[in-house]
Amino acid sequence: MKIDEYLKPKTLEEAYNLLNSCKKSAVIGGGAFLRLSNRHIRLGIDLSNIGLNYIKENDKEIEIGAMVTLREVEQSEIIKNNFDGLVHTAVKKIMGVQVRNIATVGGSVYGKYGFSDFITALLPLDCNVVLYKGGLLSLTDFLKNKDKDIIEKIVLKKFKIKAAFKDFRNTSTDFAILNTAVVMNENTLRISVGARPGAAVLKVFDQGFINSFKDTVDIAEETSLVMVKDLQFGSDIRATSEYRREICKVLVKRGVMEVVGCR
Ligand SMILES: Cc1cc2nc3c(=O)[nH]c(=O)nc-3n(C[C@H](O)[C@H](O)[C@H](O)COP(=O)(O)OP(=O)(O)OC[C@H]3O[C@@H](n4cnc5c(N)ncnc54)[C@H](O)[C@@H]3O)c2cc1C
Repeated sequence: MKIDEYLKPKTLEEAYNLLNSCKKSAVIGGGAFLRLSNRHIRLGIDLSNIGLNYIKENDKEIEIGAMVTLREVEQSEIIKNNFDGLVHTAVKKIMGVQVRNIATVGGSVYGKYGFSDFITALLPLDCNVVLYKGGLLSLTDFLKNKDKDIIEKIVLKKFKIKAAFKDFRNTSTDFAILNTAVVMNENTLRISVGARPGAAVLKVFDQGFINSFKDTVDIAEETSLVMVKDLQFGSDIRATSEYRREICKVLVKRGVMEVVGCR
């Protein structure tokens, strides 16, 4: 990667104007992933002077600023004590501490990386992404959005849930061959599957579907079959699509067994 000019704006407005002032501009989050590329960036815009490094909580929601590192997310008591530990569990599996100390929430979400453990964990939650220009978008809509914008923060609504994060990797510091997050709230069972190796996708099962089975084992079996029927899996150096399909069935089943509990 080569950067011709590197600026540290003091406001989001300034950063956004700089971003749109030239074609080959890029926001720098932690720079952990950007530096692996051989991109030629004319103008690098570092957000570290804007004050986006916070995790705030009120009765209804949690806000995480774009410049919070994944390590800070992992260590936050607010994050540990919410969402049945789902986000904490997913984040602590990402690479090693050194990478988590650098990689940011903004870079992890904006990158829309197919292998992302973070996005898989956020998707079944009520998660919104706040963009400087585009305003508030649900994470699902953000993943389809292609505008050049700046993530200011993500906002997570607080809910009482049961949750499980399951992943499968060749080694603990490799990208996942597959990852899944299963969330059960009062009315629905929400399951996301990522690292297919494409971007994470979400499927929601309503109470009617869940109540049509007597046994937890049957719910787990059926949801895993529905998931693999509807999803596309791909092959890469880590695994074939057929292998991912089989792993998906197992991980979804385990996650559902954990969150639905005995019936
Ligand atoms: C060696 C390595 C292994 C990894 N393994 C995993 C893994 O197993 N699982 C996993 O989930 N993740 C993994 N990651 C990814 C990591 O978790 C981060 O998602 C990634 O590094 C991006 O975060 P960053 O802060 O470094 O972003 P950067 O590299 O700074 O930026 C990434 C992209 O986002 C843009 N960007 C950054 N911040 C913003 C913002 N606020 N608004 C708009 N655009 C922005 C940049 O312009 C760039 O296009 C790995 C990363 C590395 C380097």
